[in-house]
Amino acid sequence: MIKVSGLKKAYGKHVVLNGIDADISKGEVVVVIGPSGSGKSTFLRCLNLLETPTDGAIEFEGKPITESGVPIDALRQSMGMVFQQFNLFPHMTVLENVTIAPIKVRKLPRAEAERDGLALLRRVGLEEKSGTYPSRLSGGQKQRVAIARALAMKPHVMLFDEPTSALDPEMVGEVLDVMKSLAKDGMTMVIVTHEMGFAREVGDRLLFVDGGVIVEQGDPREVFANPKHPRTKEFLSKVL
Ligand code: ADP
Ligand code: MG
Repeated sequence: MIKVSGLKKAYGKHVVLNGIDADISKGEVVVVIGPSGSGKSTFLRCLNLLETPTDGAIEFEGKPITESGVPIDALRQSMGMVFQQFNLFPHMTVLENVTIAPIKVRKLPRAEAERDGLALLRRVGLEEKSGTYPSRLSGGQKQRVAIARALAMKPHVMLFDEPTSALDPEMVGEVLDVMKSLAKDGMTMVIVTHEMGFAREVGDRLLFVDGGVIVEQGDPREVFANPKHPRTKEFLSKVL
């Protein structure tokens, strides 16, 4: 579904991604871990061209997306993204947050968008909050709305950038449960996370990123049990 070859990203002289190769299959759940500043967010942002790669190539569903003339809006619709800071529209109700893009971008009739939106809110356990404004929600509820909003565009892949890092500990589980159910339904997902238990349980593959390269990858259970690279060992010794 996604093929990344020799991906590089630099800001001026600061090289942040220094040659990333990764193939992500349909239905695969890839978890990305690594120290702060190692380039994890930049990697995700390059996948949907929120950042323009300096070098290398990315293919999505068989088509090169890093060449000029690619319809970026259509591409972004196919890739849902969920951020650490939920980025909900504060002046819109929960249901409006979820239906605005389908109405404006997918040109769905309002009634249809609302029916789909309510179904998505039910899926994340928040149907009864449809008329509420984001300021009245807990962090965990906000993040579940953000996930429903991303799903409303019917993405083919979901990108998550530390979706639980801004949450109080007691709210982490409810967001991870929603992500687990997406994984179970076969959604292709790339997830940057510090939740090692989740990575072990839900990840099909783990990428350990350090210094802008994939230092080690493999089955999460195997990498956790038997990290091969010294940098992986050192990182895991601090977080496990
Ligand atoms: P991570 O998500 O692993 O913590 P990031 O991808 O956010 O790492 O950042 C990697 C490095 O790139 C950091 O040193 C960060 O300061 C730098 N960086 C990220 N975005 C920008 C930007 N827009 N301009 C300049 N430097 C940036
Ligand atoms: Mg980051």
